Amino acid sequence: MHVLILGGTTEARTLAELLAQTHRPPGLRVTNSLAGRVAAPRLPPGAVRIGGFGGADGLADWLRTHAVDALVDATHPFAGTISFNAARAAAGARVPLLALRRPGWTAGDGDDWHEAGSLEEAAALLPGLGSRIFLTTGRTGLAAFTGLDGLWFLVRSVDPPEGPRPPCSAVLLDRGPFTLDGERDVLRRHRIDVVVTKDSGGAATAPKLTAAREAGLPVVVVRRPPVPGAVPVVAGPEEAARWIAEEYGRRPRRPGGPGH
Ligand code: NAP
Repeated sequence: MHVLILGGTTEARTLAELLAQTHRPPGLRVTNSLAGRVAAPRLPPGAVRIGGFGGADGLADWLRTHAVDALVDATHPFAGTISFNAARAAAGARVPLLALRRPGWTAGDGDDWHEAGSLEEAAALLPGLGSRIFLTTGRTGLAAFTGLDGLWFLVRSVDPPEGPRPPCSAVLLDRGPFTLDGERDVLRRHRIDVVVTKDSGGAATAPKLTAAREAGLPVVVVRRPPVPGAVPVVAGPEEAARWIAEEYGRRPRRPGGPGH
């Protein structure tokens, strides 16, 4: 059985690790796919292929050519295009598809969150909220913030930002998981008064939200883009590993083959 994991997330890597260890049924082959955006990605165990497929049709071809039996879309909640491509390709190639999507964050007591539908909407909210912005939305899409002359930005990303960025800004290159102490330190050292984040969910980047709450800072939270409907969804790598085991169990066995 050949499983393709569309990755680029902590959850995708954890799923690959689970499949390489305890959950691995005999004869299960895993290929991890990365977009190739990060210069030195943390590679998951198993085979890895890097780069786009050439749209939904290219992905469907890849599924057929490489005899993929199950597809897991474990991409980032803000990777809007690939999830729709995965749904179309899986339907076209008749390959079972599961989406592994970490749940979004929810505001708790003491949080001062301001929702935005896009990076542009987030930028429009900022002048009313503060002047020293911790921008954690990634290295792309920073053009949305270039018109905000009077504000200072600390831009944090894994690799250096791409394209235009706000005129008054500094870049902090770092990669999660982040600690609460570390995030408190960033807010204090840079005298941050607003945090901007995507609603990425997950524990690795959540400490900034706790640090902002403690410091009484507003947080602009960019809502997630839409996802394709009618795709079964699980919230964690363990559930995804169980789904793969079930798919594996449904497959016809060759007498004397793996699993017999
Ligand atoms: P996107 O807008 O949904 O995808 C753009 C194109 O990149 C896709 O059409 C596809 O190209 C290619 N692609 C995306 N994910 C791929 C994968 N896992 N394997 C092979 N090709 C892939 O995605 P994005 O926002 O640029 O994100 C790219 C990758 O970074 C994703 O894998 C995602 O998990 C990861 N990531 C994204 C974010 C974020 O905030 N967007 C954050 C952390 C990690 P083709 O059409 O040519 O197949």
